[in-house]
Amino acid sequence: MQLIDVHCHLDSPVFSGRLHDLLETARSAGVCGWITSAIHPSNWKAVAELSRQHAGVYHAVGVHPWYCSDDSQPLLPSLADYADEAVAIGEIGLDSKKMPFPMERQLEVFTVQLGIARELGRPVIIHCRGAFNEMMHIFRKEGAPPGGVVHNFSGGPELAKAFMDFGLSFSLGGVLTWRNSARRTRLLKDIYPHDFLLETDAPDITPVEARGTVNSPANILYNLKAAADILEEPAEAIAAASTANAVRIFGLQIERDFS
Ligand SMILES: [Zn+2]
Repeated sequence: MQLIDVHCHLDSPVFSGRLHDLLETARSAGVCGWITSAIHPSNWKAVAELSRQHAGVYHAVGVHPWYCSDDSQPLLPSLADYADEAVAIGEIGLDSKKMPFPMERQLEVFTVQLGIARELGRPVIIHCRGAFNEMMHIFRKEGAPPGGVVHNFSGGPELAKAFMDFGLSFSLGGVLTWRNSARRTRLLKDIYPHDFLLETDAPDITPVEARGTVNSPANILYNLKAAADILEEPAEAIAAASTANAVRIFGLQIERDFS
């Protein structure tokens, strides 16, 4: 089995000094790739550095809606330079549920980053909570991103269809292990196999099996098992589909890197 975690934050200080060991543990459980996302210009260099230091680690650069501070905006034009080595523009998006910065600012920062992704032809990693209509409006006005994922997607099947029409897929993680609903089952059945990917969002969104601990990269196995239970499909088949989607969407070279 070859699993890829398409959304995590490996540069988090909670992993410092033990990232190598955590990645080895995950590797021995079948995880062969990670896309670690930046959240602010101050960590663009750090995520790039991690992908140089650790085999199988790729990175995305962007400004997260919770971190679109005054000092991030003037640095947005340089995102294009940092994106050179990155596999995606992320984590970018809109959030009306938690708003350290007003929606107007979030919209501006998101639109600039979407423009850079479109210009460079890079996929995106999107965070979107309570602002789906605003995001659709931007896609209609500015054009859709060149592929990518909505991570930790919280919408239902109808909304998923609208995102898929814009060429986007979905990555899900720890929420799959929480109490599930008929709505989520229908969502998964609609997006699997072609538009379903696995993630951890480590160190956040710990699966229930590991509740009370920092979410670590190997916990993706719990998310895989939960997806297998919901979809009533073999875990191996789900892992293969998710990995094939990650390779296709983010242009990863896993044969070259992991053979
Ligand atoms: Zn995240």
